[in-house]
Amino acid sequence: MPVISAQRNITPGQPLEIDCPACGARQVQAVPTLYEERPVLLRLVPLPASRHIFIRCSTCARDLLAQARDLEELYDLSPQELLGQLQPYVSGVGRFLVVAALVLFWLPFVAPLLAIGGFMMTRRHRGWRRAAIVAVVLTFLVAGAVATLLLLAPNP
Ligand SMILES: [Zn+2]
Repeated sequence: MPVISAQRNITPGQPLEIDCPACGARQVQAVPTLYEERPVLLRLVPLPASRHIFIRCSTCARDLLAQARDLEELYDLSPQELLGQLQPYVSGVGRFLVVAALVLFWLPFVAPLLAIGGFMMTRRHRGWRRAAIVAVVLTFLVAGAVATLLLLAPNP
C-alpha cells in the first residue's frame, strides 16, 4: 500500500479571451483548467489539497498559471485584471536549479551549469529569469576567478 496516494480532479472551464503574456498575442482564445490534487495518507487521511488553474493560450499553446482559486473568479475579471494574474508556468525543476545555483554559486564549474539550466527553464518568468541571470553572473565570476588563480599558480 502506498504511503501517500493522490486523488486528482481536472475540471475544464469555458474558453475566455486573454492578452497572452507569453507570446504577446492580444484577445486570443484561451482555455482554463482547474487542477485539484489531494494527497491521501495511507488511503485514509486526506491532506490539504492544492489547487492550480492553468490557462492555455490558443496561439502559443503555453500554459499560464493564474492566481485565481476558482474558475468562476476568472470570468469576473476585466482583461487588465486577468493579465495581472497570469504568469508563465515555471517548472519546479527550473526553480530548483536556480535556487541550487544561488546557494552553490561558490562551487566552480558545477554551479555555472546549474545556473544555465535554471535560466533556460525559467526564462519565461520575469522574476525567476532575473534570479537566474544573477546566478549565471555570480557563478561565472567565481569560475573565472578560480580559473585565473589556477593559471597564475606557480607550477611545482
Ligand atoms: Zn500565447
